[in-house]
Amino acid sequence: MVVYFIGAGPGDPELITLKGIKVLQKCDVVIYAGSLVNKDLLKYAKSGVEVYDSSTLNLDEIIDLMIKANKDKKDVARLHTGDPAIYGAIHEQIMRLERENINYEVIPGVSSFLAAASVLKKELTIPEITQTVIITRIGGRTVVPKDEEIEALSCHGATMAIFLSVQEIDKVITELKKGYNEDTPVAVVYKATWEDQMIVTGTINDISHKVKSKGINSTAIILVGEFLNSNIETFSRLYDKEFSHSYRKKDGL
Ligand code: SAH
Repeated sequence: MVVYFIGAGPGDPELITLKGIKVLQKCDVVIYAGSLVNKDLLKYAKSGVEVYDSSTLNLDEIIDLMIKANKDKKDVARLHTGDPAIYGAIHEQIMRLERENINYEVIPGVSSFLAAASVLKKELTIPEITQTVIITRIGGRTVVPKDEEIEALSCHGATMAIFLSVQEIDKVITELKKGYNEDTPVAVVYKATWEDQMIVTGTINDISHKVKSKGINSTAIILVGEFLNSNIETFSRLYDKEFSHSYRKKDGL
């Protein structure tokens, strides 16, 4: 028996991996994060499976379901939004499974910050502009270590993907201003790849007003950085015709 933590992707049901679908198809119990996982994915489950929405359960109740499935020798598909490794709260489940001697595996997924980049049609790492992506959030009930506050991270000027924070956009902006210029581009993507997706673009100066006027206060990624600037003209060495390396021979083959 195995508990499979599966990245369900950002919303579009076609953005789960093939491996994720194959495992989902064979499991006898499905526990999915009902608030953000697209319910259309449930149609890939076998008929007659037990299905639970984890948004109505606490950690103990989720683990109890896994313990019971283990006793019954039933495989469990635990569907998490995006990729389970990013704010997926799998660590606390894994610690409990270790204690119970229950086998588990993790199948990655398309995280929502990558889905946001894709709908914006942008590269997060533009040569000579930035080669670093900071994934972070504003502190809430979950405390963010002092050295990792957005204010502290802003000094790098790198691309930043801010999760779980759009409801506090003013606080985010105040902290961003400590490091970025006020005209740095910002994009807020609400429900990337869902049918009701919304994209709001602006700068550190005006994004807060724009986001509020659209009524966005949950399920959004805030992307910050010069990578959003469409006028940048820089080129990677990867496809430079003078540059050969182990991935691409100089003759271009
Ligand atoms: N594991 C998930 C993140 C879970 S935390 C992942 O890899 O994407 C939940 C937060 O993720 C939300 O508050 C929001 O910031 C972001 N999020 C999840 N799905 C999203 C989507 N489709 N579009 C934009 N943001 C999303």
